[in-house]
Amino acid sequence: MPTPRREPDGTGRCQGTAHTTGERCKRRSIPGGAVCKLHGGATPNARRAAAERLATARARTYVGKLKIEATEDPIAELQKIAGESVAIKDYLRTQVETLTSIRYRAETEQTRAELTCYLAALRDCTSVLTSLARLNLDERAVRIKESQANMIKTAVDRALREGGVEGESLERARQAVGRHLRVIKSV
Ligand SMILES: [Zn+2]
Repeated sequence: MPTPRREPDGTGRCQGTAHTTGERCKRRSIPGGAVCKLHGGATPNARRAAAERLATARARTYVGKLKIEATEDPIAELQKIAGESVAIKDYLRTQVETLTSIRYRAETEQTRAELTCYLAALRDCTSVLTSLARLNLDERAVRIKESQANMIKTAVDRALREGGVEGESLERARQAVGRHLRVIKSV
């Protein structure tokens, strides 16, 4: 569905058709929605979708005004997101627990909504934590490779000196070791 033109209050022209005349409805849509209340805008699904659209539009407007800088430390950013996701997930969990204990007799609309949000938050948490774990593992693997290279350099250095290599020859040999290690690394 094409995005209808919106007024500042989030309403646009209703996309519905008037049954009596067969012409396009002349009423305003609900804020964030595509249709008026008479053409389906009053249903829970339509209201939820409209509220989500308004929230996304508000977030876009807000972010559009900010001066966004490039992320230099993706791991630190992911850690922040992970912290936020876990906090949201924990909050929603307490909401779900409270609502289910109060309204144990009837499963209400709100309980279902909270549960849906909670499950979505759980998936978000899992996804961000998995990414973080994977990144940390990659970083650790790089650190291990570097420490191995340093061990080799130290061992070769000691062996050269024990073998009586010194001065300029030792310096040349050290540079050669560095060069050969880089060649091995890039293979
Ligand atoms: Zn209408």
